[in-house]
Amino acid sequence: MQARGLGAVLVTHLPDVRYLCGFTGSNAALAVAPRRTALFTDGRYTGQAREETVGARVVIAKKSALGEACAWLSEAGVERVFFEGEHTTVAQLEAMRKAIPASRRRGFFQAAGDPLVSALRQVKDEDEIAHMRAAAALGVRLFEDVLEKIAPGVTEAAIAAELEYAARLAGAEGMSFETIVAAGRRSALPHGRATAARLPRRGFVTLDFGVILNGYCSDMTRTVHLGRATPQEREAYDAVLEAEQTAVNAARAGASCGDVDEAARGVLRDAGLAKHFTHSTGHGVGLEIHEAPRVGAGQKTRLEPGMVVTIEPGVYLPDAFGVRIEDTIVVRRGEAEILTPAPRGWIEL
Ligand code: ZN
Ligand code: ZN
Repeated sequence: MQARGLGAVLVTHLPDVRYLCGFTGSNAALAVAPRRTALFTDGRYTGQAREETVGARVVIAKKSALGEACAWLSEAGVERVFFEGEHTTVAQLEAMRKAIPASRRRGFFQAAGDPLVSALRQVKDEDEIAHMRAAAALGVRLFEDVLEKIAPGVTEAAIAAELEYAARLAGAEGMSFETIVAAGRRSALPHGRATAARLPRRGFVTLDFGVILNGYCSDMTRTVHLGRATPQEREAYDAVLEAEQTAVNAARAGASCGDVDEAARGVLRDAGLAKHFTHSTGHGVGLEIHEAPRVGAGQKTRLEPGMVVTIEPGVYLPDAFGVRIEDTIVVRRGEAEILTPAPRGWIEL
């Protein structure tokens, strides 16, 4: 049957492919035409694709999965194909165009104006939330266990290694991102990846890490202190904790992401620390560690039940210290569900 005049969709961003049809391989193009859908991958995934894919015919490409998906769409008679502009390189677009007859190339491929799949992905169903709850619970357990390894003289990398080894043994498929262990002055780096630096006798240690379970990422941050704290360190910690709790409380269905950001920022402003809070309050999390919505200043997106976001205010005093506290929460109609209930109070080791 011809489907002239109708549009189709080409999905190539792997987390989007997985979300839509279940396939988890590393090479895929999902072609969605009116009334039929096909997943293109290569010979390495013949068995896996048939096993995992739901709702799409599996086609094993002889040469290029992307090229053959485009040829298939062209032959399906559709008038135009919307592709994921945010996730398509110039080279890929060139290959897509070359895969269809020259006479059809004009206007055939169009970058989708709005993100095609991320708007769907940002609201999780209860099955997805169950996966995320399990991933987050594992993260909490790992944090509690790694506390006893934190001591002056141990390297940041050793702490990260302990966390990651324990994560794997507990069934994690991997880490959500490069583990952050930032001690002493390095805690003032918001993204201080674990290095060979040794933990000092006194100072903060920030741990920010996540595990992947069933494809879903966890994300949490806790900041602990080695030795006696200065009053300034203690005040900063208390302010960040209050900012975090205030924002968690504000993160309810109907609130805008900007309102939630402002809830955290307002507390730090009152504490005279706003200029040291140099990033957004949080981000969506799911199949990817950073996804929609962004919980940042002025963001108009309204929170909906089922959105899973992080709340992670922090303050960073250059060459001195930094503090960040991060929870992952599920937006509900009333109070949010907290997926990462690890201790948030002052921990002195
Ligand atoms: Zn994090
Ligand atoms: Zn985060």
